[in-house]
Amino acid sequence: MIFNIEQVRADFPILQQQIYNRPLVYFDNAASTQKPRQVIDAIRQYYEHDNCNIHRGVHYLSMKATEAYEEARREVQEFVHAKNTCEIIFTKGATESLNLVASSFGKRYIRPGDEIVTSIMEHHSNFVPWQQMCLERGATLRVLGINEHGELDLDVLSGMLNEKTRLIALTHVSNVLGTINPVKEIVTLAHQHDIPVLLDGAQGVSHLPVDVQELDCDFYCFSGHKLYAPMGTGVLYGKEKYLEELPPYQLGGEMIKDVYLDHTTFNELPFKFEAGTPNVEGVMGLRAAIVYLRALGMENIASYEALLLKYATEKLSAVEGIRFYGTSQHKASLVSFLIGAIHPYDAGMIIDKMGIAVRTGHHCAMPLMDSLKIPGTVRASFAFYNTMEEIDQLVSAIARVKEMLS
Ligand code: PMP
Repeated sequence: MIFNIEQVRADFPILQQQIYNRPLVYFDNAASTQKPRQVIDAIRQYYEHDNCNIHRGVHYLSMKATEAYEEARREVQEFVHAKNTCEIIFTKGATESLNLVASSFGKRYIRPGDEIVTSIMEHHSNFVPWQQMCLERGATLRVLGINEHGELDLDVLSGMLNEKTRLIALTHVSNVLGTINPVKEIVTLAHQHDIPVLLDGAQGVSHLPVDVQELDCDFYCFSGHKLYAPMGTGVLYGKEKYLEELPPYQLGGEMIKDVYLDHTTFNELPFKFEAGTPNVEGVMGLRAAIVYLRALGMENIASYEALLLKYATEKLSAVEGIRFYGTSQHKASLVSFLIGAIHPYDAGMIIDKMGIAVRTGHHCAMPLMDSLKIPGTVRASFAFYNTMEEIDQLVSAIARVKEMLS
C-alpha cells in the first residue's frame, strides 16, 4: 500500500454515509471529486476569520484576505510548476478558462482561412468554444480522429499541420476513454511549426503530476472541483508572452488600470483576466486541496490509481458481453463500457440502487459518441480514496444488471 487508505478515507466526511442502506461507493470522480475535511475547514476558517473583498482595501482584513489569495496563486504555480505567478489566472472552472482563451485568442490572432486543430475525443468545453469562434471568424476547425484503442495518431496530426494552423487545442486526458495523450510529443511537434498548444487538463491534474514548463504547453486549463477543491474554482495557466498579447475576456473592476471617459487602460497580469470580485472562499479551498494532494504526493496517487485501474480492467474483462471504450496503454483511472445490448441509462439506474455512483450518457462528448456510433457509455472513474473491494461491488452490481435486463 502506497498510503494508508483508511486514514485517507477518514478525511472525506461524505464517504462515511450509507445510501439505500449500503455504504456509498463513489465512482463518479471524473464528474466531480469529493472534498477532504481540510478543504471544508479552509472555507470555514476563511469566513470565520478572514472574509473580505480582496485587492481593494488598506485595512487589516482586506490585506489578510488578499495575502491569502495571492498565497493560493503561489501554491497553484508550484503545483503545476509555472515559471511566474502572473501566469496563473483564477477562473470559475475549466469551461471558463477554455472560453477565455478561445475568445481572446480568436480576437487577437484568428483571420478568415486560418485553422485550429482539435480532436474527436474533446469534452464539449474544449470543442464548442473553438467551433463557434471559427464560425464567427471564418476559420476552419480541423478534427483529429482516434484509433480502435481510443488513441490519437501523431502521424495523422503531423499531416494536418500547415502554415494556416494557428493553435492545437487538445485534452490531456479523455474524460470518456481515459486516454492519456502524448502531449509532450505533440507540443514538440507543434512547436517545430511555431504552433502554440492549449491543453485541457480538467482530467489531467487530478491523476498525474503536471509540469507545464516540462510539457512546454502554451496554455493549460483545469477545474478545482475535479481536484478535490470547491465548485466554481478553476485555473488558466498561460505563458506570459501570450497572456500579455491577448485582449481581456471580461471587463469591469479589478482588470483596469485607469478609466477615462473615452478609453481604458488595463491592469497587469494576472489581474487583466480577473474582472470583478473572485471566488475567494473557493480559492482558499483550492489552496487547501493542493496542499493535501502534495502531502499525499501526485506520484503516489498516480501509482495507486494505476493499481485500481488494472484491477478494475481485469475483473470487468471477465464479465461476459462487456465492451470497453478506451483501451490505451496510457490510461487514467476510469473505465467506460457497455454490457451487451443494455442501455447505459438502465444499467446506471440499477447500479445506483446498489449504492454505487457511476455516470451514464454521452459525458459531454457527443462528436465522440457519434463517431463510435453509440448513445453513451457507463463510466466508473476512480480516485485515490477508492478501494479494490468497491470495485468488487461494482462487478457484483453488473452481474445483477445482467440478471435483470438480459
Ligand atoms: N474538459 C474535460 C476533459 C472535462 O472532463 C470537463 C468536465 N467534465 C470539462 C472540460 C469541463 O469542466 P467544468 O465543467 O468543471 O468547467
